[in-house]
Amino acid sequence: MIKQTLEKEKVATEGIDLDSVVYFSGKFVPLREANINIMTHAFQYGTGIFEGIRGYWNTDEKKIFIFRMKEHFIRLKNNCKLLRLELDKSVDELCQITVELMQKNKPTCDTYIRPNVYKAGIIVGPSLINKNGKNPTGLSICSMPMGDYVDILKGLHVCVSSWTRVDDNAIPPRGKIQGSYVNTALAKTDALLTGFDDSIVLNSNGHVTEGSAMNLFIVRDGVLITTPVTSNILEGITRTTIIELAKKELGIETEIREIDRTELYVCDEAFFCGTGAQVSPITMVDNRAVGDGKVGSLSKKLQDIYFDVVRGKKKEYLKWCSAVNY
Ligand code: PMP
Repeated sequence: MIKQTLEKEKVATEGIDLDSVVYFSGKFVPLREANINIMTHAFQYGTGIFEGIRGYWNTDEKKIFIFRMKEHFIRLKNNCKLLRLELDKSVDELCQITVELMQKNKPTCDTYIRPNVYKAGIIVGPSLINKNGKNPTGLSICSMPMGDYVDILKGLHVCVSSWTRVDDNAIPPRGKIQGSYVNTALAKTDALLTGFDDSIVLNSNGHVTEGSAMNLFIVRDGVLITTPVTSNILEGITRTTIIELAKKELGIETEIREIDRTELYVCDEAFFCGTGAQVSPITMVDNRAVGDGKVGSLSKKLQDIYFDVVRGKKKEYLKWCSAVNY
């Protein structure tokens, strides 16, 4: 019945297998059966927290390596506090469910894992309070194949968005809150419709925050710079990874400070980073060439190191890769 309805309505399920197994309401079920009621609080008000985690298929070892899974679930658990979500699973339990999910779906390609923790009450009214169990917490985890989210090779042409990043005191961007991604959607969509690959979003003070769904680094006179976590950015796990890899692998300290819009026009290199975006060099901002308009050498070096690390090819960083056997 559900299958027929989805097919009749031509629901966009591109790349997503409705028969894949997902974790939903405490059980593993096929995706086509993991449906929520239209009165669900999170559906009405965007009151949920989500994560995006990548599993990289290692062709030599024939295993998936889930990258920094623990850190993603630690961030998820912390962010649950923002929305008063009462998640009754520990970080270790969330990791275990994710491993089981991989073992059930047995992916043999790069995979994206999407946990959602959300206000599951079937109620009207935006309050987050779970008085008398009326607004309980739901948990779902699904997975799907995912290649490159943006082009990581050609050098991205991006614009500065006309949309302003939501403020910590409005909808905290550090939260990875479902509803706050309307801000991301507006910035990304307008960039695409204007012919850009993506956008960089400014905060209400006019300083650079990050890309639509990725953090940002620039290079000026050999100095690697990124915006602080107090600039209304998501506290990216890839951002932390790049800061650590730059230091340990290349001996480069990252300067963490506010970035002005016009620094984007005069810097030597720029790149986005994120679970989806991986490390994606930027070669044009607002129709001005970044540096010489080619992918920057430090960006390329960091990209190469990053891919070796996430694919489990660097022993010293295997601690970040959870290999799953199936
Ligand atoms: N900023 C935003 C707004 C994002 O959605 C993402 C993707 N999760 C990132 C940055 C990058 O964060 P991470 O490296 O943890 O994936």
